[in-house]
This record gives sequence, structure tokens and C-alpha cells, in this order.
Amino acid sequence: MSAPVHSLNRFLAEARPSATYKVMDRVAARRAAGGQVISLSAGEPDFDTPAHVCEAGIAAIRAGHTRYTQVAGLRALREAVAAKFRRENGLDVDWQDTLVCSGGKQVIFNALAATLNEGDEVIVPAPYWVSYPEIVQLCGGKAVTVACGADSGFKLTPDALAAAITPRTRWLILNSPSNPTGAVYGRAELQALAEVLRAHPQVLVLSDDIYEHLIFDGLAFHTLAQVEPRLRERVLTMNGVSKAYAMTGWRIGFGTGPAWLIEAMEKLQGQQTSGACTISQHAALAALTGPQDFIQQSRTAFQRRRDMVVELLNQAPGLHCEVPRGAFYAFASCEALIGKTTQAGTRLNSDEDVVNALLDEAGVATVHGSAFGLGPYIRIAYALDDVSLRQACEAIQKFNRTLLD
Ligand code: GLU
Repeated sequence: MSAPVHSLNRFLAEARPSATYKVMDRVAARRAAGGQVISLSAGEPDFDTPAHVCEAGIAAIRAGHTRYTQVAGLRALREAVAAKFRRENGLDVDWQDTLVCSGGKQVIFNALAATLNEGDEVIVPAPYWVSYPEIVQLCGGKAVTVACGADSGFKLTPDALAAAITPRTRWLILNSPSNPTGAVYGRAELQALAEVLRAHPQVLVLSDDIYEHLIFDGLAFHTLAQVEPRLRERVLTMNGVSKAYAMTGWRIGFGTGPAWLIEAMEKLQGQQTSGACTISQHAALAALTGPQDFIQQSRTAFQRRRDMVVELLNQAPGLHCEVPRGAFYAFASCEALIGKTTQAGTRLNSDEDVVNALLDEAGVATVHGSAFGLGPYIRIAYALDDVSLRQACEAIQKFNRTLLD
């Protein structure tokens, strides 16, 4: 066989496909083949986008808002984003300090692509959202993962941060509430990390606040740039409408950070997507400026679901799950299942085997913890109605009870 003529970009060739999307694709394929699956895999709210937001999108089309906007976003939306950062996060932000992108993912991509040179290091606390290390890799950087296990509440400690920083460190990625663990950083914890960062002025911080409003038990949300204003000039605070307003498919994310960085990200975006979808921007404007009661309603529903799911998972033999304080994920250790054999004769050698067998034999889709940098765990997204959640947890319990030693 002759050598292939075409080759992939080497950064892409070495990157892994999105593990969450791989599971979502498997679910879609099984359903298309007539299979019944309860999916606890995708991290997206099951609620409909609020009606007034949908109406704003429809009205935008009717009004002929179907052309390009400015690359950085509609001025009115950027003003609303700045007002959101002022109102909810206490950040002194002007509309020019903001950038609107096609989803939160593009905010991250833009920031890293705009700043990383080959071999630059990005500290990624593990467990992490599956896409962080891969975006770093795609941008030519090197993800330096720092293990943050259950003993530290799945959170980065100041000592672990200090030990991971090198002269090549360009970024630290923080995500609170966290995907996949639901861990939430308190003010004092962020302050302690900020103390370490202040001694390393070359390190930028990406604060991924996308789950900001999904925070339970009356806990307050804190973000690094607010907790330590002296770091403001090197923090990119990012957020979006996907999780807060059940708008994942509209693809609108946004960020605020130092002017040089926002400018660089805008330059990149201008050669890439030309800016986010105009219709979605009008809808996002309605979400940010209209009634906010949806946020409280969905938070209440998610807290109720969390309580039910964590209780049912902890009743499943071989699973152990701490109570997550935010987001809509439960991250359960499945260590006690490793080495067991399923009714269909599959030996479970890893958390990925557990996830595959759960899908094949119990009809429940989850995502393996090792895809998030910590195994053996499974991530359960409880963004689903209560009845389906109960059914899924009971199917998991039954599956676990019938495993053979
Ligand atoms: N953030 C969500 C998740 O973790 C959506 C899918 C993705 O982009 O990874 O499931």
C-alpha cells in the first residue's frame, strides 16, 4: 500500500473526539435502530427555552434581522452582557470589554488559539470537562492536568496549583460549579488560589462560569475576578445562555477580559465565523434583559432531582456519590464494580466498560469518568424529568445487583 497523500493537521490528529458527543451519538444510533435508552449523558437542560426568548428569535426573523452583526456581537447584546457581569458578578465591565461567540466552547477556543504557542502549558484541574485538554491540544498547547480527587472535594488546592506552575504556564482553567463533579469553589478557596496566582504574573485564568446559576443549598456563587480584583487584568470570565436559560442549541456564549485579549479573540473570530448567529443574539438579548424567574424555577427543579438521584445512586450496590453542590451532574465512584461480570458475560475492567454495559444491558446512557480525567467513575447528567430519572436509577440499581463476582 502506498503512503497516504493527505494527512491531518498534527494537533488535530493527536486530539481525541469529544467523549460526551461520542456517547450522545451512540444513544442516537440506538434510538434510530428502535432501542429504548434513557440518556443521562448529555449535559443540557431538558426544559424548553422560555417562551419570550423563542418569541424574540421569531420576531428577529420577521423583522429582517437576518444579516451579519458586528464580529464581536450586537451592540445591544454586548451592553446586556456587560450589565449582567455588573449586576450578577460585581465586575466593572463596559460593553466594549465583552465578546459574543457561538457558544461557550468558542469563547474558550478563541482565547486559547489567540494566546498559545507550541508547548505553552495550560493547567487543567482533573476531573475536567472533556473538551478543555483537547482544545488546548488543538491550539498547540500542552494540557497539564492536576489530579483533584474526592479527598479535596474534586477541587484544586493552592499547594497543588503552586506545584503545577512552571515558567511555561500560560493559563489556568477554573470551572465552578464544575462539570463533571458539581463541585463549587467558595470565596475563601478562590482567594487562596488567587494568592498563589499573584506570584506568577505570566499566568492567565479562564474562569468558566457557565453553570453559575445552577448552584444549590443556598450557596452563593463567586468568580475569581470579583474575589480578587487585582487579577482582573488577566482573567477571562466566560459564561453563556445555554445552561441558565435552556438555550444550548442557540449557541451563544460570551466573555469579558482584558482589552488586548478581547481584541485578539475578535480578530480571530472575524476570520472564522464572522460572529454568532444574528437571530440567536436577539434571543439571548431577550433572555438577559427579560424576566429572570426561569433561573430560580430550574434551580429548584435541579436541586430536587439532585437529591433524588444521589439518594438512588447511593442505594445502588457498588456506587458511591458525594452530594454535588451545583451544575446538573452526579459523579459516582464505580470502583467496587471493577472486576465484576455482567449477566451478558461482560467483565468490567474499567469505568468505560461499566458505561458500555449500562447502555447495552440496562438501557441507560452515562459517560465514563476517565474521559473527564478521573476513573473509575461515571458521570450522570440529571437534566431529565423526574420519572425518567427514577426509572434510570432503578435500572442502574438492578444492573448492579445482578453483577457476578
Ligand atoms: N457540556 C455538556 C456536557 O458536558 C455538553 C456536551 C459537550 O459539549 O461536551 O455534556
